[in-house]
Amino acid sequence: MIRFDILTLFPDMFQSPLASSVLKKAIDRGVIKVRVFNIRDFTMDKHRVVDDSPYGGGSGMVMKAGPIVEGIERLKSTNGSPRVILMTPQGVPFDHSQAKRLSQYDHLLFVCGRYEGVDERVRGYVDEEVSIGDYILMGGELAVMVVIDAVSRFVPGVLGSEESVLEESFANALLEYPQYTRPRVFRGKRVPEVLISGDHRQITHWRRREALKRTFIRRPDLLEKVNLSEGDLALLEEIKREEREARDN
Ligand code: SAM
Repeated sequence: MIRFDILTLFPDMFQSPLASSVLKKAIDRGVIKVRVFNIRDFTMDKHRVVDDSPYGGGSGMVMKAGPIVEGIERLKSTNGSPRVILMTPQGVPFDHSQAKRLSQYDHLLFVCGRYEGVDERVRGYVDEEVSIGDYILMGGELAVMVVIDAVSRFVPGVLGSEESVLEESFANALLEYPQYTRPRVFRGKRVPEVLISGDHRQITHWRRREALKRTFIRRPDLLEKVNLSEGDLALLEEIKREEREARDN
């Protein structure tokens, strides 16, 4: 079981993604638990102010440290010791291995920024900072949903088949092989014969080759990080030769 707590100014944004499909089922079964808290509820002033203009001037507003830190501390004092994560484009890039690592915690608390971001002093109260990519979102809410979705896939009991996590793209540092389902022929395009041959050794070989080929064509950078077997290296040479020939013809 993993618990996700979220501090946000827009709690409603989480309703629909958590009420559908796999995440909903996991919540219903008690495998994951999600609680959403409004940062405004941790303000101390009459007007429940959560932002203010930046010192030094400049456009936009900055989220005040007070309500966020109050929220973090209150949730920590009443709910154990979550790993506190600030969503920010300045954070560590989120990827497959980060998702797997975060799934080892039993309790994560996410802080969603808005506007021009959060007061720098909030950083002293978080354990880590996560970015979902080199672009700027309007707020941390969608980024948190991405992280929760990807992390949940590694939590035992969330997916129907735990095996799919082992086979997927990035799991072996390669992109996944092509997948097919019925019908055998779709608009003249046939499913590769090997997949209907029933020969599991040949199927495994074909899938490995296709994974290598797809990774070589689309994400050659991934191949630099992976330890390939002698067999893989031979296949890769074959694939490179084929690609060169196809280009030259
Ligand atoms: N001015 C900030 C900066 O340049 O770092 C960006 C502020 S952004 C408009 C508002 C909030 O959206 C951020 O505080 C953060 O919580 C969230 N956010 C935006 N892009 C993100 C990304 N790529 N990954 C994670 N969170 C992001």
